[in-house]
Amino acid sequence: MSPENIRISAITVVFIMVLTQLGLIASSALAEDTEQMRQARERMVREQLIERYGFRDNAVLKAMRAVPRHLFIPERERHAAYADRPVPIGYGQTISQPFIVAYMTAIAKVDQDSRVLEIGAGSGYQAAVLAELTEHVYTIEIVSELAKWAEERLLRAGYDTVRVKQGDGYYGWEEFAPFDAIVVTAAAPHIPPSLVQQLKEGGRIVIPVGSPFRTQQLVLVERKGDEVRTRNLMPVRFVPFTREF
Ligand code: SAH
Repeated sequence: MSPENIRISAITVVFIMVLTQLGLIASSALAEDTEQMRQARERMVREQLIERYGFRDNAVLKAMRAVPRHLFIPERERHAAYADRPVPIGYGQTISQPFIVAYMTAIAKVDQDSRVLEIGAGSGYQAAVLAELTEHVYTIEIVSELAKWAEERLLRAGYDTVRVKQGDGYYGWEEFAPFDAIVVTAAAPHIPPSLVQQLKEGGRIVIPVGSPFRTQQLVLVERKGDEVRTRNLMPVRFVPFTREF
């Protein structure tokens, strides 16, 4: 190799290194929790959860403060990450309003020993909030692109204990049953019987029940021995529970 060629290859190597470095910086900026985002999140917790909705569950508040919600939202919608409303995540789906996520998590009564199943991983955000409370989180998503997105986002944000599966959550996840809590984040026409069967004694399901595109009821299902009790909690609007046939 002539000295000129060596010089050109050295320049090429440096150039590639700079490009790689820029790429790394860009991708880590994407996965970053900045001071500005932390402040937005703190405001979300204080102004929405505590002041507007009177939410008081300290463990859940801590989880809501910890999870970088913006990292689960597609870039074009990221400006609305901490707003008091659902946000589109693509494929006609939405990530629920922060209060609804906090409320459903509190109703599920999750502690560090709980085994929790979520139906409707969507962005992966609700699963991350649950993962702040227990290492045993399983989540199912019917749209394969979203299942992939949720898995990727959860890993990037450091939630590597969450198990994500693509499939129809109507049948639950037999392999890891029974569960202490099941959180369903899509509106079902009825309570899927397999979910009740996969619930531990004393376990709880929180699920929106009703017709799609109309107001539904958020329902708490409790299994006490052979008895299954249900209680309406509040009116909600969720995207529909779809089926894989
Ligand atoms: N928990 C999500 C919210 C997602 S919206 C979050 O934190 O972002 C509800 C999700 O349920 C959608 O992604 C939708 O595709 C999914 N879904 C609907 N029916 C389903 C089913 N039968 N099984 C699994 N996921 C389902």
